[in-house]
Amino acid sequence: MRISLKTALAATAGVLALIPLAQTFAQDSGAGLLADLKQHSAAAHTAAGKDWTWMANMMCQNAEFGGDVIGHFWAGQRMGDADQDFEPVQVFDGVYYVGLREIGAYAIKTSAGVILIDSLLPGQAEPYLVPHLKKVGIDPSQVKYVIVTHGHADHMGGAAYFQDKYKAKVAMTAPDWDMIEKAPAKEPGGQPKRDQVVKDGDKITLGDRTLTILFTPGHTPGSLSVLMDVKDKGAPHKAILFGGAGWGLALMPMPMRPIYANSLNHLQETATANHVDVELDGHGFLTGSILKIAQLRDRKAGAPNPLVIGEDGYKHYIDVFKECHAASTDRYQMLAAKYGPDPRKWQPQIVD
Ligand SMILES: [Zn+2]
Repeated sequence: MRISLKTALAATAGVLALIPLAQTFAQDSGAGLLADLKQHSAAAHTAAGKDWTWMANMMCQNAEFGGDVIGHFWAGQRMGDADQDFEPVQVFDGVYYVGLREIGAYAIKTSAGVILIDSLLPGQAEPYLVPHLKKVGIDPSQVKYVIVTHGHADHMGGAAYFQDKYKAKVAMTAPDWDMIEKAPAKEPGGQPKRDQVVKDGDKITLGDRTLTILFTPGHTPGSLSVLMDVKDKGAPHKAILFGGAGWGLALMPMPMRPIYANSLNHLQETATANHVDVELDGHGFLTGSILKIAQLRDRKAGAPNPLVIGEDGYKHYIDVFKECHAASTDRYQMLAAKYGPDPRKWQPQIVD
């Protein structure tokens, strides 16, 4: 039986709301950390409002188990369960969601071909990505670029396919090219050959579209995000696709934490400076954006585009990440003080 995403999200959020926050640490030496954690968690929920409740619950609550472990559970459970039924849909003028329910991929039409952002898991190009492109009227041979937000299998899995078959350029940052070369993909054809190396501020231009790369490491050493102009039925908007959202916050090693915090600041500052009012991401089932994308399939004439969240909305969205990250860092320190520096020895056991 397939439970609808909406029902499952609501049910999980409901369960999380019942779990008392951080009661494990009541008699801990880290009283200051606990107070700080509570403050950040409360701030995250304030920022989340009604729009990002699920996200704040997932990332901030359930301190005993490490907060976003629920996200891991979902991801682990569901990433292999490709959603064949997720119909691709135009989300902005010439911008299409061609991913699955759990894993995002976007196709952007330009006057000189198509840019793909992310490419699903290895082996999913032929059964999913290519048919999705065709359904929205894109000939896969027109894919000239694949921008890989980070070198995890669920984002770069199809890059080699387009590189080999259609000579598409594959763009990724140097630290993530290094990362995948050090630990190559196990699946045959699951890894592109080193191609274009991009860094913060780089522009990728194809025909009449220019995308700006933002270096936002933390989730991986070289995760990137993409700043772009979009139009909704001709009306201009600015979007950021956050390509390295930290769903694995609970176990993020300490040295990576200030780097990730910095990336969140970079995203927020860039968003403010550019009047970003549209949120796109790589895992819409975790942010909830997949529900909005699904709504766009039968959007009524004159109805607003739910992906346009406004400038304040984007700020609040990143605030949820910032506050939950800060809460998670407190929690990490509390667990390390209690059980020692090796997260694998922590009790209760946290899934990684
Ligand atoms: Zn990832």
